Amino acid sequence: MQRIAVLTSGGDAPGMNAAIRAVVRTGIAAGIEVYGVRNGYAGLIADEMIYLDRRDVGNIMQLGGTFLGSARCPEFMTIEGRQRALDHLAARGIEALVVIGGNGSQTGSYELSQMGYPVVGVASTIDNDLEGSDITIGVDTAINVALEAIDRLKVTAASHRRAFLVEVMGRKCGYVALMAGIAGGAEMVVIPEREMSPEQVAHQIKAAYDRGKNHAMVVVAEGAVNNAKKLIDYFAANPGATGFSPRATILGHVQRGALPTASDRLLASRLGEGAVRALLDGKSGVLVGIRDDQIVTTPLAEIVGKQKPLDLRLFDLAQMMAQ
Ligand code: ADP
Repeated sequence: MQRIAVLTSGGDAPGMNAAIRAVVRTGIAAGIEVYGVRNGYAGLIADEMIYLDRRDVGNIMQLGGTFLGSARCPEFMTIEGRQRALDHLAARGIEALVVIGGNGSQTGSYELSQMGYPVVGVASTIDNDLEGSDITIGVDTAINVALEAIDRLKVTAASHRRAFLVEVMGRKCGYVALMAGIAGGAEMVVIPEREMSPEQVAHQIKAAYDRGKNHAMVVVAEGAVNNAKKLIDYFAANPGATGFSPRATILGHVQRGALPTASDRLLASRLGEGAVRALLDGKSGVLVGIRDDQIVTTPLAEIVGKQKPLDLRLFDLAQMMAQ
């Protein structure tokens, strides 16, 4: 193998730069030329690729986001779009592709590999919803950002006897909300895996109030049916339901822009290296992830269209700790 390409796709995740760096430097160490594709699959279709040497990926590991750019690209969902991408790769003599991204992006990897092209995916999403990896690049940073916000909001919540709803990202997966909730000592966690009605949420906050707590912190996953907006609307229509004066803070994309934690940089370095090793071993159509602290590959066919289930024992832990 002489020439490969790497791209980042879908939602950006802190640590993606460290993964690109690892792919480039592992490739070069193995005598392979590495090209970077700009803006995910869109850049593949538009033939936007740049040669990367060791120095081009210097001083980027500590930065959030992705220096190659990312995009959502509906055209890649069509066979014509993917064929155009393959034509550009062939014209440049690029023999394999590394895709750093989440669930949707790895479905794209799978579709491309089904067309006979060697592709290896790297598990990277702040949602941690990918099968095939215990944890994905960006999750640790996202939890830490959420945690910092919770810690700060707790200070003002306690001063004013308030209930704060903090909504965190994670799409349909409650992982980030649950972990940040446990680490932040939240009174409640509202996640899609354990939906709750506004009445149930209000009841639990009121119980905390009646136990004498001077504040209540509720971490809400954006994917919950009753998200922060719905809950705060309910509380506004039912004053007194919680005992506290409720407020909502939606963290949104703030969680994505942070500097990657040490844990995310290490994971990204290991998975990036693992992706190139997998290609050198002749693997294709696989996702590189981490399980029990070992770098492993899982066939993309086994993970596409799935969402990794949440360990609900952690939900029980969050509930018990809040008493
Ligand atoms: P993420 O990778 O963060 O989950 P998305 O779900 O938005 O992000 O997917 C990113 C991109 O992956 C899409 O814009 C599209 O280009 C590609 N993709 C997603 N699903 C498919 C599919 N079924 N077939 C081909 N490409 C896909």
